[in-house]
Amino acid sequence: MRVVIAMMKHETNTFSPVPTPIARFAKAQAVPYEGREVYDAFKDTNSGVGAFIDLAEEAGAHMVFPIAANAPPSGPVHDDAYKFITSRILDAVEAGCDAIFLDLHGAMVTQSFEDGEGRLLANIRKIAPNTPIAVSLDMHTNMYPAIADNATVIGGFQTYPHIDNYETAARTGRPLYDMIDGKCQPTMAWGNRPMLPHVMRQGTDNFPNKDLQEMTKTMEAEGALVATLFVGFPHADIHNAGLSAVVVTDNDHALAKKYRDQLLDFAWKERESFVYQIEPLEKSLARAKAATEGPVIVLDHYDNAASGGTMDTMTVLRGVLATGLEDVAVFAIHDPTAVQEMIAVGIGSQVTLKLGGKIDMPSIRCKGEPLSVTGTVKLISIGQFRNKGPAQTGVLQDMGPTIVLDTGRVEIVVISRHQEPNDLNCFLSLGIDPLTKKYLMLKSRIHYRAGFGKVAKQVIECAGVGVCTSDYDMLDFKNVRRPIYPLDKINDPNPA
Ligand SMILES: [Zn+2]
Repeated sequence: MRVVIAMMKHETNTFSPVPTPIARFAKAQAVPYEGREVYDAFKDTNSGVGAFIDLAEEAGAHMVFPIAANAPPSGPVHDDAYKFITSRILDAVEAGCDAIFLDLHGAMVTQSFEDGEGRLLANIRKIAPNTPIAVSLDMHTNMYPAIADNATVIGGFQTYPHIDNYETAARTGRPLYDMIDGKCQPTMAWGNRPMLPHVMRQGTDNFPNKDLQEMTKTMEAEGALVATLFVGFPHADIHNAGLSAVVVTDNDHALAKKYRDQLLDFAWKERESFVYQIEPLEKSLARAKAATEGPVIVLDHYDNAASGGTMDTMTVLRGVLATGLEDVAVFAIHDPTAVQEMIAVGIGSQVTLKLGGKIDMPSIRCKGEPLSVTGTVKLISIGQFRNKGPAQTGVLQDMGPTIVLDTGRVEIVVISRHQEPNDLNCFLSLGIDPLTKKYLMLKSRIHYRAGFGKVAKQVIECAGVGVCTSDYDMLDFKNVRRPIYPLDKINDPNPA
């Protein structure tokens, strides 16, 4: 048996000014992993591809790895990057295979298409109309008919922060092998509700998503092959952005529909609980100043690299400096130009430079505003580390050339490639022990909880500036289907 295993992941923030060329899909090299590199990069890691490899080895299948491409969230994927990735997958399918295992994100918008994954799957189906396809997806999938119609089994994460990458692909891939063995006949039902849950209210530590994900696990224990509730990714101005559900059963379509409706009805009933209440920044910083025991997380959640943020807005850091917070570590400011300037002056040198604010954000009518910072170049690093876990355990992360700039009160990590602080090793790899710091300023929304949730004494959510704003009034939605909650205050989930 010959199986194709591939990864194509991008969460597209259509409001993001950050470009998405092919190089963004690569780690520590110019282009994404292909062939044997894929196996070496993901075998024995907490990743979807890692799980697909283990399933194939259990089944004694011959594995083909056309590509594994994963870019941090940003603006629409460049058409030539999309073609680069998908042509490799299509060529591998065309060469002949018995099953296909795809580790996708499910919110990829390209320069030309709203639904990158659906188009890939439809094109695979043209070549291989009857080949079984398993698709593992992120919880932030914006679901489209072309994804559901062309896949055999679909499964999504049940955790946010996402720490079940491996388990999700295992849950999704196993039924496909059972089907090939004649042990089951997957049938799928999917649907959505007109709602855009705020990302800051989507964490699976909290009601209502905690309860929704528990429901999917109960369904899988009681009769579903795979059950998924996607919270959706709201920073995508596309027709189908928002919450959806997909349930796969063994040849029982009525049961799949029943479970799907239970999930969607619960989510719709609790739609107000998915709305985020914003605290003014001054109030948040005053609370931070009053904190007595660290580490206190100062969360700059409007500018999260893992949601398409430029990771270079300076509003919250400016506030941290102006408020006089001491013993702070910051992760991170994305500013490759500043990194090169500091490499040029060298370790131990005192510098004054304009940090961050290099990228304008026309979608929210904001110009980039650098901040003048004086400090010592404390450390220069190649900027690569492997995650300690539980998120993406063992997977290589690449921040590009990296500097620690020390102002005396604040240690600022300055990076050259976008990287969300979801793992203690983002600091530990640079010689900063986050557990001993009074404050950790993180540009993150929910994923920081994977590495830092347990060690934080307090978390203070700070509304700064950025294209991941939780204030939907700042975003000019033109293409998402209307009406949709909470942009429109609707009570009927099936408006005429
Ligand atoms: Zn996600």
